[in-house]
Amino acid sequence: MTAKIIDGKLIAQQVREGVAAEVARRTAAGKPKPGLATVLVGDRPDSAAYVASKQKACHELGMESFHHHLPADATQEQVEDLVSQLNADPQVHGILVQLPMPAHIDEERVLRLVNIEKDVDGFSPLNIGRLAQKGREPLFVPCTPYGCIYLLEQAGVKIEGANAVVLGRSNIVGMPAALLLISRNATVTVCHSRTRDLPAIIRQADILIAAIGKAGMVRGDWIKPGAAVIDVGINSIPDATKKSGHRLVGDVNFEEALQVAGWLTPVPGGVGPMTIAMLMKNTLRAAELQDKSLLVV
Ligand code: NAP
Repeated sequence: MTAKIIDGKLIAQQVREGVAAEVARRTAAGKPKPGLATVLVGDRPDSAAYVASKQKACHELGMESFHHHLPADATQEQVEDLVSQLNADPQVHGILVQLPMPAHIDEERVLRLVNIEKDVDGFSPLNIGRLAQKGREPLFVPCTPYGCIYLLEQAGVKIEGANAVVLGRSNIVGMPAALLLISRNATVTVCHSRTRDLPAIIRQADILIAAIGKAGMVRGDWIKPGAAVIDVGINSIPDATKKSGHRLVGDVNFEEALQVAGWLTPVPGGVGPMTIAMLMKNTLRAAELQDKSLLVV
């Protein structure tokens, strides 16, 4: 078997076009442009690059972006004051606090401060709690897991009734991905660093979402033939054939998985582009909720 490749770049582009069209419609109708505020504390080059690509996406889709950069030695109070100002600013519909922040900042306290109606990252305990409860809907779903489920749905993978394994239990990927799969009626097993006999558990999976940050750890013979494999991992490994001296790979051994899986996402070009596309979708949703006063918290 050769797996069908799920083209995240293409699907993300379609999501972005849909968002851009909706933004154009609402601005033509005299409604404000959706506005995303990004908060970067410190000078990590990777974080600066992520924030820059989010700002670029806002401009490309006709949305406003407001960037706030605080120095690495900013105090907890300065960061919290900034988030409070953004909460009160009607031009700001979504707030994205880029993580990780410098070690002296209590990230939890900062994230707790973001108004739930502006929590476009979907990380607030209120949004995650709503995702976990039957009959409740979060205002926003965290962008990367949202992208994973969207890819499965677009590929036509049947989630209802499927055995799904989520490898990794982080707050930003694994745990919300598991909750989303449950909400779509999959039977879900969550694995982590203390799980015994991972290969045996993963072999039961009709759907595998791998998010552990370990290059190529999931081998082809761990995968159930025909399974849908979503590889969230982004790992840099040395590669002397590249000018940069390295290349990005996922958590799944791609070449091996290709021979066994039914569907497979590449790295790069799979889940990666979906994260920003879903952030744009969430920011548009924030603007819609705020201008219609649809909030029920
Ligand atoms: P994380 O916070 O480091 O969590 C890693 C999870 O994997 C933890 O639950 C950990 O278990 C588990 N784990 C680690 N080593 C393991 C092992 N050998 N066996 C079984 N489980 C193991 O990572 P994350 O933030 O979720 O990110 C995971 C990967 O996704 C990274 O490569 C990251 O770069 C990538 N990522 C990609 C995107 C995207 O847009 N595509 C977005 C976010 C993250 P414990 O809980 O027991 O420690």
